[in-house]
Amino acid sequence: MNYRSDYPNEPIGGGNPYYRCKACKISDPQINGRLEGHSSTCSWRIAQMNKVAVEGKLQQIHDIAEQLKVLCLYDATLEDLVDKILELAQE
Ligand SMILES: [Zn+2]
Repeated sequence: MNYRSDYPNEPIGGGNPYYRCKACKISDPQINGRLEGHSSTCSWRIAQMNKVAVEGKLQQIHDIAEQLKVLCLYDATLEDLVDKILELAQE
């Protein structure tokens, strides 16, 4: 996972020079750019993980669509296409 420091943050305050995640209140040095550095209930972390999951699925759908496009060029039947979708979805 890439280094991430784009979460909303706020100064810890009270003489502490560091910032912390606004959602889970864990300090920047503790998080150290890791998604897992946030609390498991951090709303920002959960939103990011959902985003990554959705992007992964979209990429998979995109890849399947590209392969189906090729099959259509060769006059594949609807049955062939369904078989191919099921095959690709299992990868
Ligand atoms: Zn957080």
